[in-house]
Amino acid sequence: SEERQHSIAQQRKTLPIYGMKNDILRVVRENQIVVIVGETGSGKTTQLTQYLHEEGYSKRGMIGCTQPRRVAAVSVANRVAEEMQVELGKEVGYAIRFEDFTCEKTVIKYMTDGILLRESLSDPDLEKYSCIIMDEAHERSLNTDVLFGILKQLASRRSDLKIIVTSATLESEKFAEFFGRVPIFRIPGRTYPVDIFHSKSVVEDYVEGAVRQVLQIHLQAAIPGDILVFMTGQEDIEVTCETIASRLEKLEGAKPLLILPIYSQLASDLQARIFEPAPEGTRKVVVATNIAETSLTVDGVKYVVDSGFCKLKTYNPRIGMDALLLCPISQASASQRAGRAGRTGPGRCYRLYTEYAFSHEMLPANVPEIQRTNLGHVVLLLKSLGVSDLLHFPFMDPPPPENIVKSMLGLWFLGALDGGGRLTDLGKRMSSFPLDPPLSAMILAGQRFGCNDEVVTIVSMLSVPSIFIRPPGREEEADAVREKFLVPESDHLTLLHIFQRYRGSGCRAEWCNKHFLNSKGMRKAAEVRSQLVDLMKEQGMEVVSCGLKWDIIRKAICAAYFHQAARMKGIGDYVNLRTSVQCYLHPSSALAGLGYNPEYVVYHELVYTGTKEYMHCVTAVEPQWLAELGPMFFTLKEGNTSRLEKQ
Ligand code: ADP
Ligand code: MG
Repeated sequence: SEERQHSIAQQRKTLPIYGMKNDILRVVRENQIVVIVGETGSGKTTQLTQYLHEEGYSKRGMIGCTQPRRVAAVSVANRVAEEMQVELGKEVGYAIRFEDFTCEKTVIKYMTDGILLRESLSDPDLEKYSCIIMDEAHERSLNTDVLFGILKQLASRRSDLKIIVTSATLESEKFAEFFGRVPIFRIPGRTYPVDIFHSKSVVEDYVEGAVRQVLQIHLQAAIPGDILVFMTGQEDIEVTCETIASRLEKLEGAKPLLILPIYSQLASDLQARIFEPAPEGTRKVVVATNIAETSLTVDGVKYVVDSGFCKLKTYNPRIGMDALLLCPISQASASQRAGRAGRTGPGRCYRLYTEYAFSHEMLPANVPEIQRTNLGHVVLLLKSLGVSDLLHFPFMDPPPPENIVKSMLGLWFLGALDGGGRLTDLGKRMSSFPLDPPLSAMILAGQRFGCNDEVVTIVSMLSVPSIFIRPPGREEEADAVREKFLVPESDHLTLLHIFQRYRGSGCRAEWCNKHFLNSKGMRKAAEVRSQLVDLMKEQGMEVVSCGLKWDIIRKAICAAYFHQAARMKGIGDYVNLRTSVQCYLHPSSALAGLGYNPEYVVYHELVYTGTKEYMHCVTAVEPQWLAELGPMFFTLKEGNTSRLEKQ
């Protein structure tokens, strides 16, 4: 509406970046690379692209802006399209994996850093772009760090390309240094004091702690103002929201509270709700992952409740692979979180950890992802880009050499690299899929075994958030329906089975609802599938079905995961073949509650809950397949009852 447009235009003018527009454009004109630092909420992400566009840069090519997070790319593109009064996907668009919302008209493109990285595979000089903004560089995501090196090399080849690196924090000096002492532009901040309250004793249960703190603020604080709670992920966010709601219901006379979750897997229309102001007289509480630390700004927050934790993908040497681990945040993150309370006025931050923990147990800054995760996908990508010597690639903070070596070893197991570390044909074909190496390997194994039609469905289903719904109060009903879909020996085949039934139903949303399946997720899986099929066809691969020969499909699954295998020890109880560490079937697995357990299984991922390592998405396999498909990995000793051993 006109009124809304007017208020948006007004709001743009009040952003701290607004007064700096001309200065910023001058620095950009005079320098090829600039680092821009500004508090979260100062307008970097939404305004810089528009300023460059208004200045005419978009006549020479698109203005690209990378984000480490998908949610942020989508949300910000929406906002900027609204500010420019254009339809999303036209002048302003976004691209995230499996979702391209741009067209020939697009001049401002928000995308994940992974997308730009992949684009550099087919267009090494990124000719389509006149400017690239590497936003949220302080997040130091794996892809951002690789892009740093790529863009540094590209800058010398393309003197007309403008590169802007933005950061919300201290690391700016390091970025400027890395690109050759480029100028740093600081947007003056405008923040209010935030009083910080630490917990007096160690908080045993941060969910319970957060719930109590929120209720206390809501019931006692006379001052209006919204609450932002930092949790770690979908699970604890949902529990927190439900518990707050149910406790509040039992209280008489409490004022209304609007409880809104935000995490990356949440449907995008629900994500957008956090930006809407609460109705008059209602307080809003947003329960978020660290996405609200710097990527998204919720206006009106006066109280922050900080659990002190986040989930990080971390290479875990004990289990020999990446796992999502619950980790204490860094001091830098803690300060960022507290700062969210002081944007529009003085605020308060309640930390659910002691002052001692803050000063003695937290690291000063986050460890860059590149130093803590498996690099398989990145190594494959860099090899495809022709970077042969990874140990000398210009990384800002080089990953530990043993991580590179381990990732190369993993790619060698999968057949993507040869003994000399060179990309094989198979590896080249794997790199054309925007998937983790094991999943691309699964597609290619499906090709070899004549079942890629089925395999590409499984991979698509694995590429979308969980499609199972368990509505509160109807969990048993949902579980009973789910049970009917189960293929006893495999969660992967269960996913395949569900997709086939979905297609059989004519891909109907009602069918999904009736069967407690997320219809958007299913639709998404179908979309991902058709994109992967296109990529397969581009490679001259024919899509072939094996009918219902489950065993052949299980073997293709095994080809992707033979290095993620486990052997049964007791009911639900396994030993990881690579690391000899105990791990468990997840209770939701098709293999759980069968009454017996297959001797050998492979798994999609391990999830560590703090007490146990659970295998997620499991398939029973024959031991001779492990030996056959991973000959470098296993040798089979005295028949299939004995242990498979590493060579
Ligand atoms: P920065 O990148 O410097 O952190 P942003 O450009 O993201 O700042 O945000 C500037 C302002 O725009 C903030 O006040 C924020 O609340 C508002 N904003 C950003 N995205 C949205 C959105 N999707 N809906 C409503 N307001 C938004
Ligand atoms: Mg931003």
